[in-house]
Amino acid sequence: MKLNPSPAWLTERDGFLCPSCGRRHFGGLRDCAIGENALSSLPVLLKKYGSVKPFVLCDRNTFAAAGEKAVSVLASAGIPYVLHVVERERPAPDERIVGEAVMYCPADCDAVIAVGSGVLNDTGKILAAARKIPDLVVGTAPSMDGYASGTSSMERGGLKVSLPSKCPDAVIAEPEILASAPVHMIRSGIGDMLAKYVSLAEWKIAALLVGDFYCETVADLVREALEICVEAGPAAVNGDGDAAAKVTEGLVVSGLAMNYAGISRPASGMEHYISHILDMRALAFGTPSDLHGIQCGIATLEVVRAYEKLAKIAPDREKALRHARKFDPEQWKADLREKLGPGAEAMIRGEEKEGKYDPGKHAARLEKILSGWDGILSVIAELPPSGELEAFMKRIGHPVSFAEIGVSEEDARDAFRLAPDIRDKYVLGRLLWDLGLTEEFC
Ligand SMILES: [Zn+2]
Ligand SMILES: [Zn+2]
Repeated sequence: MKLNPSPAWLTERDGFLCPSCGRRHFGGLRDCAIGENALSSLPVLLKKYGSVKPFVLCDRNTFAAAGEKAVSVLASAGIPYVLHVVERERPAPDERIVGEAVMYCPADCDAVIAVGSGVLNDTGKILAAARKIPDLVVGTAPSMDGYASGTSSMERGGLKVSLPSKCPDAVIAEPEILASAPVHMIRSGIGDMLAKYVSLAEWKIAALLVGDFYCETVADLVREALEICVEAGPAAVNGDGDAAAKVTEGLVVSGLAMNYAGISRPASGMEHYISHILDMRALAFGTPSDLHGIQCGIATLEVVRAYEKLAKIAPDREKALRHARKFDPEQWKADLREKLGPGAEAMIRGEEKEGKYDPGKHAARLEKILSGWDGILSVIAELPPSGELEAFMKRIGHPVSFAEIGVSEEDARDAFRLAPDIRDKYVLGRLLWDLGLTEEFC
């Protein structure tokens, strides 16, 4: 069994002093066991964390996939545990499951073992953070990059939020279990990784234009993880265990990279915001949506195409200034409320603080864009050609259009248009707005 994917410092608790940016980067993950019989390391890890009575959280599907095996390992090692299986089909990441976890986890349980990828992992992290106890996650599918991230993607009060929780202490996963996950989930994990083409490019553009913190070492780490996932992707969707494990390692690294950077920049950009808008609309109006990574994968292709188009356009100062002058805040608010329902309010409040649409700020950014245009073009040139990306996605059976997942053309267009309002992060949509090109590109 392999303990810790390379590089070895991924599980370095004291962080590492970065050669590129000079900061000390902290990951938070103490152990990562992805390999055959990895579940048998549970007793050793629990002992290491001082746990004598873990709380095991599963749903019915993840219990069958890996939970049953996990508790049998605990039982054979004579470790008393409390098991809670969420009985409903596809539990939502909301108050109900968090409440359930809190109510079923006895006060004397001293560690959480969450079995599952998205919802169970996110809930386990919240419970462990609240109780201040170690959190172990048993992965059941390489479906998203949140395994090692320090936040939980939740629905609170009917709104999508990313809550600070904690990076798990350990991620444990077995190739065979990962490979037997539904293939749509494996594609989703790869889609979530393809998003990194865009997020890495936009991170660099934001560093150039608005001075966001940027670190080449962290970016390199994500690039490497992305390459691994692309290489292993085709075999992973064909049920190859080693390949599914590779994809999972890449996803773990990607989540860690966000911890290292202290921001989500290395792993999420415009494509994630498009996916976010689709989720918000699905919550508010019941419109179609799909797995996080699938939405991100399709959005990545759309965004790469848009960057290709942008690279062929000469920026026009007058046009951009004219466009910004036409901005009507009241109409903007009404549009957000109509398209997003109650979720719009947080975005409107955000803008009050951020002033993204302030004409003075726009004019200053525009000058930076115009003087830095060559730099932006060279970042865009690093993106993979959209044709290659599309061919790869087709090869692994990943949807390549929103229509394929039931999202109407109008909804897709709205998602693209509203994505930059999610929060104050400089992404493609902001660049297009600054250049007066939003309508043309939607
Ligand atoms: Zn650094
Ligand atoms: Zn993601």
